[in-house]
Amino acid sequence: MVSYLKNYKVVYPYKKNLYINLTNRCPVKCSYCIKYRWDWQFRGYNLFLPKEPSYEEIISELNKYMKKNQLKEVVFCGYGEPLLRANIVKKVALWVKKNFPNIIVRINTNGLSNITKKNVLKELQFLVDVVSVSLNAHDSKTYNKLHETKIKQPFKKILQFIRDCKKYIPKVIITTIRHPEIDINKVKNIAKKLKVKFRTRKYLTKYEPR
Ligand code: SF4
Repeated sequence: MVSYLKNYKVVYPYKKNLYINLTNRCPVKCSYCIKYRWDWQFRGYNLFLPKEPSYEEIISELNKYMKKNQLKEVVFCGYGEPLLRANIVKKVALWVKKNFPNIIVRINTNGLSNITKKNVLKELQFLVDVVSVSLNAHDSKTYNKLHETKIKQPFKKILQFIRDCKKYIPKVIITTIRHPEIDINKVKNIAKKLKVKFRTRKYLTKYEPR
C-alpha cells in the first residue's frame, strides 16, 4: 500500500484534456472497473488518493497545466464519482469559467449521485458544458448483473438523472463500454428516445500504458 501514497495525481493530462481526480469513493461497484484490475493506475498515473484534495490543492495543480494552448476540456473524472463532491466541482468549474472561458467543462458520472436532498445539477447550470453519463447497460436486469450498489432501482434513477441533466446542461451524452453482455444498439436507442448524444467506449481489460 505504501507505493500508493506516493506521486498520486489530483490533476492529470491525457490527450488534449485535463482530468481532475476528486475522490476514491463511488456509490457503485462496476464489475469491469479498471481501478481494481489496473491497481488504481491509469496509463502511468497513480490515481489512488490517500486523502481527498482541497479546492486550493486542485487549483494549484490546475495552474501547472492550464496555460497550454492546445487544451480543449477540463474533465471531472477519476477513479471515483466526482459528483459525490458536488460543492468542489461547482467551485472549481466556476474558477475555470472565470479564468479560461473557452475551455469546455465536462463531468463524467455514473449518474447515481443526484439522489441527495438538493438538486446538484441546478447549481451546475452555466458552469458545466457537458455531462457524460456512463449507463453501461441496456436494461435494469443487465445493470444489476454488472453493477453492485445499495441504491434501489439504479437503472431507473440513472435515466431520471439524464432527463434532469437536459434541463440544466447544454450537452448530455450517454456512454457505454463495448461489453459482451451489453446490447449497444439498445443503449443507442435509449439515447435517441431521451434526445441526448451517444458514444461507445472501449471495454478495457489488460493494463494499457501511455
Ligand atoms: S463508476 Fe467508475 S469508478 Fe465507480 S466503480 Fe464504476 S467504473 Fe469504477
